[in-house]
Amino acid sequence: MGLLLQLRSVSAYYGHLQALKAVSLHVNEGEVVALLGANGAGKTTTLNAISGLIRPRRGEIVFDGVEIHGRPVEEIVGKGLVQVPEGRQIFSDLSVRENMVVGAYRRYRRGEGREVAGDIEKRVELFPALGERLNQAAGTLSGGEQQMLAIARGLMSRPKMLLLDEPSLGLAPGLVSEVMRVIGELRDRGTTILLVEQNAPASLRVADRGYVMETGRTVLEGTSEELLRDREVRRAYLGKDFEEI
Ligand code: ATP
Repeated sequence: MGLLLQLRSVSAYYGHLQALKAVSLHVNEGEVVALLGANGAGKTTTLNAISGLIRPRRGEIVFDGVEIHGRPVEEIVGKGLVQVPEGRQIFSDLSVRENMVVGAYRRYRRGEGREVAGDIEKRVELFPALGERLNQAAGTLSGGEQQMLAIARGLMSRPKMLLLDEPSLGLAPGLVSEVMRVIGELRDRGTTILLVEQNAPASLRVADRGYVMETGRTVLEGTSEELLRDREVRRAYLGKDFEEI
């Protein structure tokens, strides 16, 4: 498995607050890697630094062999690295189909409109609930369906790698396992995923490896089995939810 994404000593600031303190991590092609940690640990900031939404002050970010640190979001998306933001950020007044079309706008610009139409049908196979609601306004979907739509929209540009920010946030337990099932299926179909989650048990069940962040640093890394066994991880991040595994 080749290296697809590598961060080396990435530091980022909001004003004087140092949100990332020399973060190093990597994701191999075909892996699902979980990024765990409490509120404010720096998980979202890490994703934003990778996708170009914020510009880190120091460090290197290499994706698919190319240095992307400081490059514009557009260019990074064009290389096949797509972020699905926390809180979904779908367009409520547009239909499910229209939201998916938006995710493929670069392909439209390249004149691949016809192919995109076929792709919508193919993507919704993964999300049966969306298939039945293609013409419904996205704002009328349930929270879980909106999360599925956010992921489906992200897939419309046919990314090599997805950055998923808390896809299980606010979902009922049954829907959390549905989202994790989809993530596992995406991996099986060849998409590499960096998954930010506060729900450690659910994400370690689907992930191959994981990192734990604390106040802007990665403090632990290991395979999912190692992290699930780790006493410190169990105490701090798995809590009582762990009993439900
Ligand atoms: P959460 O799960 O709550 O989203 P997180 O691990 O993703 O947490 P970040 O959102 O990356 O954490 O935040 C890291 C730190 O940076 C926190 O101390 C947070 O308050 C701060 N921070 C995040 N965004 C901003 C911002 N736009 N301006 C100033 N400080 C910020």
